[in-house]
Order: sequence, then C-alpha cells, then structure tokens
Amino acid sequence: MATRRSFDIDENISEFFRELSKLEDEMINELQLPVASMPESLPITVLEEGKSAAELWDVFLDKEVFKQHAQKIADFIIEHRPSAAEEAAKIARIITAGADEEMLEHAIYFDASQLSDYAIQHGLSAGLFLLMIQNAVQPQMRIWSQHFRQIADLESLNQKWRQPYCPFCGQRASISRLRKEDGVRVMFCAHCFMEWEYQHLLCSYCGNADPEKIEIISIGNDRFDLIYGCKECKGYLKTLNEKYGYLPENLWLESMCTFFLDLLAEEHGYSNSLESKLVS
Ligand SMILES: [Zn+2]
Ligand SMILES: [Zn+2]
Repeated sequence: MATRRSFDIDENISEFFRELSKLEDEMINELQLPVASMPESLPITVLEEGKSAAELWDVFLDKEVFKQHAQKIADFIIEHRPSAAEEAAKIARIITAGADEEMLEHAIYFDASQLSDYAIQHGLSAGLFLLMIQNAVQPQMRIWSQHFRQIADLESLNQKWRQPYCPFCGQRASISRLRKEDGVRVMFCAHCFMEWEYQHLLCSYCGNADPEKIEIISIGNDRFDLIYGCKECKGYLKTLNEKYGYLPENLWLESMCTFFLDLLAEEHGYSNSLESKLVS
C-alpha cells in the first residue's frame, strides 16, 4: 500500500489489518446462513420507509458462529500482537461465556456506547473489545448484506437512498470514495461492506450542504487521500479520490490503515466522535 501513496504509512499496522482481512475472508467462505429467509420485498420496504433493513427485519445471527469467530480473532491477536495477547484472551473468554441475545443485538447494530459500557463493567479495554466484537460479527453481517444487494434493485436503491447511514445495517459510513468513472461519491459501511451513492458536498453528520462550509483537506500534493471536513459541526469523513490514485480493493482496509488522515483531521480541528454528534 505504501508504494501507491506519496508518503509512508505505518507498514506494521497495515500488515496487521491486511492479515486480519484475509482471516475475515476465510471465515466468510466457511459460512452458511439461511439467506433465503430474507423477504424478497425487504429492499423495497427499506426505500419506502427510509429505514435500514436491520431496523425493519430481524437479522439472524448464529450465536455459536459468533463465539467461534471471536475466538479466532483472539487467536489472531495473540499471534500478531503479543502485547495485547493477555487482554485478547480475557475478552474471548468473556464473549464465549457471556454472549447473550442482548450482546448479539448490540453487535448487529454495533452500538459502540453500549458495548463500551459492557467492556468497562467487565474491566476490559473498550477499544480492543470493540475491535474484536466488530470483527467477530463482520462475516455474518457481510453475508447478509451481500444477499440484500443481490435481491435489491441497486439502481433504484442508489437513486432513492440518500441517507448518511447504511441501507442494510444502519451504520454511518466510515469512509467514502469518489468513483473513478464519474466522480460520484460512494459511501462505504465498515460493518457490513455495503456501498451507496451520496451527494458530493453534503455533511453526513449534520446535513450541511453549503459548499462554502465543506473543507477538503489533503497532505501536500496528494490528491488521493482526502478529508472532507464540515465547518458547521466539525465532523469529517475520509475520502479517496480514485481519479488521482488507485482503485482500492478493500475499503475496510483503507479505513483502518489511513490513521494519518484521522490525525490530519484532528490537526485541523475536526473530530468524528460520533456519539457526541448524535446526542447533540
Ligand atoms: Zn452496513
Ligand atoms: Zn456537519
């Protein structure tokens, strides 16, 4: 990845996430979920109601698979990040023993504040707990979201769904890209890998659409890695301009490995602390 960018990124971090991404793909390949149980009409209802599929229909999560995946993620961290090994093993034990319907529901909606509270109550590192939960639930969420895309009329979904959150799982976009062919801004959900088109200069947090109040920031002459900062609410979204770089194969990996963009945003006074924005 470093060779494709005009400056260095932390190769250790990107290697860690690249390997984790391979593990996610392996877990997906072994999965069998009852996808046929998803109603064919669900994508139409999503558009009619303006609500995500997960809000309108009960996403089935296999608890045992979730626990196995949490253990695999823990084993991966133990191998690749010895400094976090003890904590990862402890988290896996707590997930294996304590995964109930409530935890699964928080995992499906990726309710970061509830999950962080749970971690703190159990004396766990909230950051590592969130990372492990998200990666343990990701394979199942991705299969469901893939199936949702298969039964949806994607053209109509793209024309009509203009929300800042994912039409399948309801999560906010973690990164966006400007599509190479036409420059259209496409949002990406890191929770289920859904993509959807979105207005170019529209803040995904507060709805500010005044072009004067959206600041586009880059590092030096790099026109690929961008920050779209909103002067109104001080939120930001990392955005990759495919016209000036490569075609990213995996946007989850991009969102995890572009920590330098988060630092850049912070230096300019922006923050994507979502909880504070949602309650304000
Ligand atoms: Zn999603
Ligand atoms: Zn805003």
